[in-house]
Amino acid sequence: MMTPFQNSFFNRENQMSEQIVPAELSKKIADLYQRMEEAYDRVAQQLDFSCQGCPDNCCDSYFQHHTYIEWAYLWDGVMALPEERRQELLTRAKKYVEECAAVIARDERPQAMCPLIDNSLCSLYAHRLMICRMHGVPSAMTRPDGQVMRFPGCFRCQELVGDRESLPTVERTDFYRELVALEVAFLGPRRNLLPKVKMTLAEMLVQGPPRLP
Ligand code: SF4
Ligand code: SF4
Repeated sequence: MMTPFQNSFFNRENQMSEQIVPAELSKKIADLYQRMEEAYDRVAQQLDFSCQGCPDNCCDSYFQHHTYIEWAYLWDGVMALPEERRQELLTRAKKYVEECAAVIARDERPQAMCPLIDNSLCSLYAHRLMICRMHGVPSAMTRPDGQVMRFPGCFRCQELVGDRESLPTVERTDFYRELVALEVAFLGPRRNLLPKVKMTLAEMLVQGPPRLP
């Protein structure tokens, strides 16, 4: 028997056979993601830092994402999966959303493994979102009001660098600007009609691809 969730997903699937992000923008976001990854790798290399051997897996952290284009690009990855695999991930995502809702209702911060994790690896690595690509090494971002925000990296990286004063850092600002520009190009005038995105990856899966007017 089909659950209402499965039913809504199948309906969407029937409507959606094509790539959601137009080809030109898809190429641009893939390129941006690639450059984020390279910037991260450069800093990691300079620090001699890697996730290998880490006893933790930060994919169980609770965090949200904020752009329609990343949501849609994630779904382009989901739609390319064989149906059975897709269903498996969506079922996990639904469970994740329910479990987190119960924890939030107790006024606590959820900690649950991302539904895309398999054997400690991301199932949609090429489509993982920006925040997934930034976490680990030190990074910084200048906000539009000029305030600089610094992110010290994960606990293991902080242990590694100790109290070193000068650290290589991933500069996020230009990446964020580019992502916003892609979001604007993706949404066009629809941008003003849509609510702001503030969703976990699991919620993006459960809701299906973004419905754009
Ligand atoms: S980013 Fe840090 S905490 Fe997360 S898996 Fe890598 S080493 Fe471990
Ligand atoms: S999308 Fe991939 S990298 Fe990001 S939290 Fe999930 S499993 Fe980890």
